Amino acid sequence: MQNHSFHPESLMMSYGYRPEWSEGAIKCPIFQTSTFVFPSAEEGKAHFEVAYGLRDRRDGEREGLIYSRINNPDLEILENRLCLWDKADDCAVFESGMGAITTVLLEFLKPGDLLVHTTPLYGGVDHFIRHFLPKMGVHTMEFHPGDSQEMLESQIQATGHADRLAMIYVETPANPTNALYDLQMCRSVADRFSNSEKRVLVAVDNTYMGPVWQHPLRWGADFSIYSATKYIGGHSDVIAGAVCGNNGNMKRVKGLRTFLGNMAGPWTGWLLLRSLETLHLRMERQASTAAQVAAFLQSHAKVEKVHYLGFLDPQRDAQQYDIFKRQYTSAGAMLSFEVRGGEAAAFKVLNQLKMIKLAVSLGGTESLAQHPDTMTHVGVALEHKRALGITPGMIRLSVGVEHPDDLIWDLRQALLD
Ligand SMILES: *Cc1c(COP(=O)(O)O)cnc(C)c1O
Repeated sequence: MQNHSFHPESLMMSYGYRPEWSEGAIKCPIFQTSTFVFPSAEEGKAHFEVAYGLRDRRDGEREGLIYSRINNPDLEILENRLCLWDKADDCAVFESGMGAITTVLLEFLKPGDLLVHTTPLYGGVDHFIRHFLPKMGVHTMEFHPGDSQEMLESQIQATGHADRLAMIYVETPANPTNALYDLQMCRSVADRFSNSEKRVLVAVDNTYMGPVWQHPLRWGADFSIYSATKYIGGHSDVIAGAVCGNNGNMKRVKGLRTFLGNMAGPWTGWLLLRSLETLHLRMERQASTAAQVAAFLQSHAKVEKVHYLGFLDPQRDAQQYDIFKRQYTSAGAMLSFEVRGGEAAAFKVLNQLKMIKLAVSLGGTESLAQHPDTMTHVGVALEHKRALGITPGMIRLSVGVEHPDDLIWDLRQALLD
């Protein structure tokens, strides 16, 4: 009876917070404050020594609160709770997913380095990698779902910058087709180009399936990164981001965050603490509803194809199925489907939806539909889009927590002529 370890979902209500810190309040209050009073000059000095890395924390010494750009109770408690899902040493929360991702890229890449990345990437990340990083002298190379380890290694060699490979950046499942990348394979490629002086880092955008259904650190990734705007926030009312990783790397991430000043504020921290209490419940419900919605779409005469992880076939899609079985514990709640009749037919469906909202973003309590070809992926070159399988008839659906029958009713009536 002594060694019970609680599941993360059980710890989301209380972990890292003690009611006696706040007059017995059962919930962590919003610490809406910019600065913190030091009990004495000696303790102020001690806080700064730790914050500036002049010495390590002594046994039992808590990191002192100094100033809300460096730390704040709402952020620290939130970060401690987010660590539990990924079994990470440390976590840093940001004012957006883009803030989290760009801080990792800026901290760990320098001029002359090579960044290898999956495709397609989230539009903002794609832009930053293709248009901003080259200005800093960073070389980039993309690879594709299904590329074997040998292919990837020889493509890296062929860039002429293999000795400067610094990071492999992965978004899996890819949006909107749900193509999967093998994180163990990425780790072994990174190891192949690492040496005693340099570890090639693997950074994973875990927004689509995390933190519940995919745990990148377990497969050797160095970072599990989130747009917390999506499932973690989950109510379409907050923009935020998070990075989880080991102590050494996270010290650097938090260091740059302090100087860029892109940490989340206490109000965002508090909203996310509240969201975390229902995260597991929401995601499980969204996934079970998505399975019903996918089955309905699959059987509909007007639907040409459904991209849903639950439909991967062990024979036909052997490589993707193998990754799915190993790396994920659910088929998730994101799917896309292709309507017969191209853009005009897809637009007609989108315009006829009565309950499902026509909006980008994902992972929230309400179901959202959008048209990748002309919306989220409009910036991707035409041939590239078609090669990725993004067609004019494709609609992406983020399944929310509504009753499954209502979602199916809505889609059925929208698919009528
Ligand atoms: C939304 C999203 C981002 C960007 O996050 P923001 O919170 O909007 O800055 C990054 N990656 C993925 C996969 C996303 O869906």
